[in-house]
Amino acid sequence: MPKVCLVLDLDDTLYDAEAAYGYALRSVGIDPSSADFVNARQTIKSRLGEGHVGARNRILYFKQFLDSQSKYSHPAVLELIEDYEKYLSDHIKNQWELLGRRRLFEQSLNKIPKVIVTNENLRTQMVKLRAIDPTGRVFPQVITSEEMGVEKPHLSLFQQAIKILNCEPKDCVMVGDSLDTDMAPALKLGMRSFLTTEFRKPKDNEIVSEGVQVLSCLDQLEKIL
Ligand SMILES: [Mg+2]
Repeated sequence: MPKVCLVLDLDDTLYDAEAAYGYALRSVGIDPSSADFVNARQTIKSRLGEGHVGARNRILYFKQFLDSQSKYSHPAVLELIEDYEKYLSDHIKNQWELLGRRRLFEQSLNKIPKVIVTNENLRTQMVKLRAIDPTGRVFPQVITSEEMGVEKPHLSLFQQAIKILNCEPKDCVMVGDSLDTDMAPALKLGMRSFLTTEFRKPKDNEIVSEGVQVLSCLDQLEKIL
């Protein structure tokens, strides 16, 4: 059997992150499309700038959101983020069971070395990882943009994954939902590149480059690998 290693994106690859975010926000009483929340998020994103590793951190949005409503206090921010994390975790845990991911990862792909490479802050990704892998045995390694100081598609995150896996790029399979941030850098490094369209389809103006294999469902991995 040829050696194969997996480099996996997390959000919108292993589960539907957008659905989980929406559920968690609504559960803490925030309408994700409300002007107050959209403005709070935009204020943080604009201030930090495109590609800043902190610009996705919900605790920053929540502080700004509460502040804009004159409801800011540190206990209020912490209560909001803790409740949000609980609902986020519940939704992802539920999805994991419904999608049959436990069987896929704990049986079919169990023996394949894996690293998760993700653009987010470490704490939030650990909350999500604990939801899908409470023992930490299924996904023993994660690399976040927060730790690396840069976001995908920066090659350093992928090079770090290859280093951890201790294998040749050609033996690494990158699985992700983004052509720009997952597929392009993986191809550049000579990795095999699988685009999953299970939760997010490429937009009309996005071109799937040659060399990218498209998976409509992650279960297809067990037949290919
Ligand atoms: Mg993703």
